[in-house]
Amino acid sequence: MRCIICKQASSSSRSVEHIIPESLGNTDHVLPTGVVCDRCNNYIARKIEKPLLDSLYFRERRFKANLPNKKKRIPALDGIHMQPLTHIQLFKNFGDPAIGIGASPNVDESRWVHSLVKQKSGTLIFPMSKMPDDYIVSRFIAKVGLEVLAFRLLNVPGGLDEITEKPEIDELRQYIRRGSPGNVWPYSFRPIYAPDFVIQSGLKAYKVLHEFDILITTKNEFYIVIAIFGNEYALNLGGREIGGYKRWLRTNHGKSPLYTGKNA
Ligand SMILES: [Zn+2]
Repeated sequence: MRCIICKQASSSSRSVEHIIPESLGNTDHVLPTGVVCDRCNNYIARKIEKPLLDSLYFRERRFKANLPNKKKRIPALDGIHMQPLTHIQLFKNFGDPAIGIGASPNVDESRWVHSLVKQKSGTLIFPMSKMPDDYIVSRFIAKVGLEVLAFRLLNVPGGLDEITEKPEIDELRQYIRRGSPGNVWPYSFRPIYAPDFVIQSGLKAYKVLHEFDILITTKNEFYIVIAIFGNEYALNLGGREIGGYKRWLRTNHGKSPLYTGKNA
């Protein structure tokens, strides 16, 4: 068995690969051991997923959606209490809807407590959420794309070998595993629904956290299309251009391939 990213032998690898990180609520879409080798799995976690998950935007989204990390901790939101100029945090405990507020860890909270006791009102400031850099986002979308291809072919005999051997995806593999700062793989980004959108399905209502699919255009280009927290991202797995996706959107009146007659 060989890794779909670095192509090295991976039969002895032990880690499963989450296509979307567990910290974004994914438990279903997982690749079995060896599809992505341990070294690539570790590299992706540190260099691609961590910077994305630690960004202000994703921390805020995870906080609002009560999404814990593997250790069942929901990220805290950092802010400042203006009057004593103290760094503070909003925090939640997993399984408890209440929001707590406290001085940041390692901060002397005495002036803050003094201010709370003495003053009738004060000002709390929380920075606006900013999206992570395009480079971080595009490498994440690229890795999800390659892994979704593998996920779709898991049960097809020879399917994984075909992905590993396809020279057309070598540039994408390089981009995921080695990167190219300053040369960002372009992707399409647009909000398509509210971040806390809820779908009614029979008696159950559930929050849509993420969805993905592969769009194949009439020119046989393969696009990964992902929605996370209401934002749609699309990236061409075969090359650094997204003209084909923009054309597809124009032809389909701006609908998302996730919810329309795609690949028709
Ligand atoms: Zn590998």
